[in-house]
Amino acid sequence: MSTKVLFAGSPGSWPVYKNTLSESFDRTGLDVDLMAETSDPTAVEYIVYAPNGLVKDFTPFTKLKAVLSTWAGVESFQNNATLTAPLARMVDRGLSEGMREWVLAHTMRYHMGIDLHILGQDGIWRNDIVPPLARNRTVGILGLGELGLGAARVLQEVGFRVCGWSRRQKSEPRIECFSGSDGLVETLKQSEIVVLLLPLTSATENTLNAEMLAHLPKGAFILNPGRGPLIDDEALLAALDSGHVAHATLDVFRIEPLPVDHAYWAHPNVTVTPHIASDTRADTASDTIAENVRRGEAGLPFLHLVDRKEDY
Ligand code: NDP
Repeated sequence: MSTKVLFAGSPGSWPVYKNTLSESFDRTGLDVDLMAETSDPTAVEYIVYAPNGLVKDFTPFTKLKAVLSTWAGVESFQNNATLTAPLARMVDRGLSEGMREWVLAHTMRYHMGIDLHILGQDGIWRNDIVPPLARNRTVGILGLGELGLGAARVLQEVGFRVCGWSRRQKSEPRIECFSGSDGLVETLKQSEIVVLLLPLTSATENTLNAEMLAHLPKGAFILNPGRGPLIDDEALLAALDSGHVAHATLDVFRIEPLPVDHAYWAHPNVTVTPHIASDTRADTASDTIAENVRRGEAGLPFLHLVDRKEDY
């Protein structure tokens, strides 16, 4: 009997996923009945899911073996009371590659002081400021998971001194790892550039509040491709206005799209990017999904399961 997989991903993504998932399932050798709609929810065994897709209530899916999210962040749906099946979040090498590149690009912008030349072509020959070397700059990464650790490694390879903070203590070659509340303070104190790649949970909301922002070195830069509520917006605006934080590049916000009258749009020391730091790539993500279906059918533990007690 074929394995019944319902695609309930983001609107409009079915034509792409139809092909990439079929190819990935073929490679696993599984006999899969892949559908975008069903008249018999009781037969569905796996749902490929996005919170902006069609499925909101999992109750009718009585034979569900797992929900396989196409999104990495699960804060908007992991507490759906009808979702009792195992929930796997997206870990996708395409998504990780994209995030590494976004973090590297925006770190280099700050590190090299690129704005001075791009925005300041005023006829004045300023050759007294030579770009520093990465090895003389410390970048801190809050969150050393799939995306944070990938970004940390690429920055370290470029030459930056890298420190990072996670919930559980980590040990990574050439990356100074911290955990716990003292560890956060230690990380921030060193971070001339700080990158937020934490999931949004009750424990991580407002991680960068006024008190924590004050631990950053004066003139620090902030990159937030994690989630908007990780930062206390009022505290950040105050730190930007005082110059304690020199500039912030924000990809994620409490309200998205960012309202047109939000102070971030107009602030001279804020760059807004519209939640494009990285995206799940259908071709590589389909391999992740197919591998989890294969594991489920082989009686193996699923990969990338959300820890429902920890909210991520
Ligand atoms: P992971 O779950 O792999 O990593 C999360 C990291 O955060 C882990 O190192 C974890 O610690 C740490 N962490 C969690 N809670 C705490 C805490 N209370 N204190 C300290 N550290 C904590 O997630 P990913 O790396 O895959 O993704 C991170 C986030 O990136 C996503 O949740 C999503 O919000 C965001 N994202 C943004 C995108 C964009 O385009 N802007 C695209 C994709 C994702 P530990 O290692 O101990 O578990």
